Amino acid sequence: MDELRRRYLAQQMELGGAEVVLETNARSDEQRKDSGAEPSAARPWMKGAPPIPGPGLAVMSAEPALLGNSLADLDSIDALADYIRSRHCCGLCASRTNAVPGEGNPKARLMLVGEGPGATEDATGRPFVGQAGQLLDSILQAIEVPRETVYITNIVKCRPPQNRKPLPDEIAACIPYLHRQIELIRPKVVVALGGTAGEAMLGVRKSLGELRNKVHTFNGIPLMVTYHPAALLRNPNWKKPTWDDVRIARQLLDR
Ligand code: URA
Repeated sequence: MDELRRRYLAQQMELGGAEVVLETNARSDEQRKDSGAEPSAARPWMKGAPPIPGPGLAVMSAEPALLGNSLADLDSIDALADYIRSRHCCGLCASRTNAVPGEGNPKARLMLVGEGPGATEDATGRPFVGQAGQLLDSILQAIEVPRETVYITNIVKCRPPQNRKPLPDEIAACIPYLHRQIELIRPKVVVALGGTAGEAMLGVRKSLGELRNKVHTFNGIPLMVTYHPAALLRNPNWKKPTWDDVRIARQLLDR
């Protein structure tokens, strides 16, 4: 078994995936080569992946550049991050150790949006670096999208006290930053991690069950909603549906 397959199997076990049956010899890949199809080892995450589901909500936001507000003058993701670090825009900013603007590839094809920084993120100024972040890293690895290729951010950029959900006025104050980040990065696909992120991005009040398994669009960009990694740590039964969701997002990247 080659190293790629070994890693894939380990990640399948971690993510609670269904039984995996590997083809036992190289001949099947040879046969695929003859038929012009990609070898199975090239996209191991695709085995048993659900098809791309139908459309969901289509949301258009008032883009900062169109509104001509001050964020429109910030024309790089780094300049925007510096601006976020320097501003106090709602009550959450007063108690922060560090603002957490987001990090990653400014030309990312995949963008991930969580709810808000936790304790480790507040201490370091970096998104998803605690336990939930480690699980997120392994999910990304399993779909062969390394963390350094994506952009990761949150709905609110400062930690809510005791990790409570951000309040509507806190979301309203902070979400223009996310909109400008999306406008600058123009990712091919966005994944909202958790119901709070999904609702805030789509501007609706719906359950995660209603938001999952649909290809929504945000300003024309495909948007999937899935479970938050911290929820998976609490309830491992949600790992399998999450694994399905991220494999749909992965297919959207290839589309
Ligand atoms: N949870 C989030 O929603 N975001 C982080 O950055 C970390 C944990």
